[in-house]
Amino acid sequence: MAKMLLATLTIVTALAVAVAAVELPENNTNSDFFATPRRVAQREELLQQYGSFMLSIMNHSVDPCENFYEYACGSWKQSPLLQPEQRNSSLLSAIQKDIDEQVLQHLENATDPQARNQSTNGADWKAKQFFASCVQMKSNLSLGYARFMSGGQLEDRYAQPGQAHHQNASREDWVYVNFMSPYELYPLLPLKVHYSTSLRKFVILLQAPSKMLGNFKPEQLQNMTRDFQLNEEQQRLEFLGRFENLTRFERNLTQLAKTRNETEQLTLGEFLARHKEERLNWTRYFDLAFNGTQQSHWLVHNQLQSVGDLVHFLEQQPLPLLRSYVQQRLLLKFYATWQTQSTRNASSPTNACRIVTETYFNYALLPWFIGRLFDAERRADVLQLARHIRDTFYELLEQYSWLDEETRSQARTKLASMDVLVGYSDELQHPELIDAAYADMQMSSDWFENLATLERNRARIRLRSVDKALIPQLMATRTVNAYYADFLNQAFITIGMSQWPLYHVRLPAVLKFAGIGNIVGHEMAHGFDSYCYQFNYDGKKMNWWSEGSLRNFKARYRCLESQYNKYILLGVATNGTLTSGDNIADNVGARMAYYAYKRHTQNKAWLEKPLLGVDFNNRQLFFLKFAQTWCTGRDSASKLSKLKTDMHAYEEFRVVGTLSNMPEFSEAFNCKLGSDMNPLKKCVVW
Ligand SMILES: [Zn+2]
Repeated sequence: MAKMLLATLTIVTALAVAVAAVELPENNTNSDFFATPRRVAQREELLQQYGSFMLSIMNHSVDPCENFYEYACGSWKQSPLLQPEQRNSSLLSAIQKDIDEQVLQHLENATDPQARNQSTNGADWKAKQFFASCVQMKSNLSLGYARFMSGGQLEDRYAQPGQAHHQNASREDWVYVNFMSPYELYPLLPLKVHYSTSLRKFVILLQAPSKMLGNFKPEQLQNMTRDFQLNEEQQRLEFLGRFENLTRFERNLTQLAKTRNETEQLTLGEFLARHKEERLNWTRYFDLAFNGTQQSHWLVHNQLQSVGDLVHFLEQQPLPLLRSYVQQRLLLKFYATWQTQSTRNASSPTNACRIVTETYFNYALLPWFIGRLFDAERRADVLQLARHIRDTFYELLEQYSWLDEETRSQARTKLASMDVLVGYSDELQHPELIDAAYADMQMSSDWFENLATLERNRARIRLRSVDKALIPQLMATRTVNAYYADFLNQAFITIGMSQWPLYHVRLPAVLKFAGIGNIVGHEMAHGFDSYCYQFNYDGKKMNWWSEGSLRNFKARYRCLESQYNKYILLGVATNGTLTSGDNIADNVGARMAYYAYKRHTQNKAWLEKPLLGVDFNNRQLFFLKFAQTWCTGRDSASKLSKLKTDMHAYEEFRVVGTLSNMPEFSEAFNCKLGSDMNPLKKCVVW
């Protein structure tokens, strides 16, 4: 599993359209503060702008020793530097929205004839073509449906000459039908190419058939017939009748396969030997699935107990029924994507098209995105910060008397082996590699055809991935977020996260350490939180703790659990256990970033005041910046709805909980021992 820095951000898509980039006079306070670095060239001016922003979101009438979050973020909803929709969201969501708008503008550039003198073979251009075909489609799903029903989406291997005359054709034709479509959807007896996080490679997964048609409610079916514009009563009844018939078939299908209690894991060769007595000819099954390219050392994860009854049942079914079922499942698969662009779902079709384009062209847009928002200098800068923080963590590990030497040495190894990635891996900087990955895919003006092309390509790549030790991308780098993946012992900071005003290469060091540095520290700390502590340096789940050290560790994080259990929002208590992992990461991340800055400046810069017009010294600025990362203007209902299920504490508690455990904070703001922000009891895990 991967730990995210924050729960998936909800972006208000309705507000994201038609915001043209207007060049405003530089000091105009009504301009978009988030676009500041794109307009401002001078460092002094940038710092002056940042300083005014910092002050404008603070509530100076609050005592910082009483509630530091309120002090730091209390005027977020009134800040004249923010636009109304930004005041109702959070700092990080506002950065995301700014990025989304830039992506949208980039994609829309395709319609500008002046932009056409660029290469039309590049992946970036194909993304724009796809986006344009999506926008032009104008939410008319009947075109897709008509195209689908004419058979345009199917590659009917069964219809190939010679196949039908196979000796056993009558008995095993259902296997052909199962693998009839080129979209990695084999619903009669499912096979998936599945990424195993414990093995870190792709394996073959065999599963029982799943219910899909049976999940549709009558009103959803009515909507579907409306979306497909089946306006004549006869057409509609025909569609619904067929659907009902296929749902009945599906009910029988899904009742017949038995699932194992424990997944059988063996090589394909072993699997074929062990299952050769079964009614199904598995060799032919895999032959059809992989077109004869399968290898006997590939790994199979088999969840099926016995397939005898299921196979017997399928052998008895008329082929047209089976074909009709596969076709229906495919239609539903595509319908799910088509719908994202239908009028009912997207109040803003262009934005919906941006989202679909981003899912299929994630890598294609990367070179443009890197060029615009994250050049080599910025990436090196954040990586340098990450190095400082890792070194600091390393030094602190030496000082913990609650760890015995053996466990300390294991912890050191885990920290030293941790991969820290910022923005992208090196090979992704090369547009020619990315163009090559999209080379086979030609985009047309027909969105439905384009989608089919992309899905076919996706499935083809997937089928070729078995046994490959590729590391899947867990998050698009345009996302304003970060993660730690326990199974890889890897921390990842996105480009989206490394953006103004959270980060800028020309901000003073203290703001970098307290901002993006804290995020890096947070993700690194996840490697040592109350869940991921179970994984070793290599991402394998195994115990590397001595009994005594583990007992001490648990006592230390239970202190945090009871601390956070006491934080109540509108009558609802925080769940200290649910949020434990992230509370540890918040606390440790902030401490590591603080000590890394202290080490970086040799403890000499605390009293300097680097922001013109802002009367805070570096020590105070560190804590202000840390707190302001979590500023939010969301309404109470959305705060409460997150509180019960989110693995993260509510923003205010992330700030107050962390800083009230740091004596350095109280020193910076002169908080008396016993005040709200400086309690007698403090919890420190790492
Ligand atoms: Zn986290």
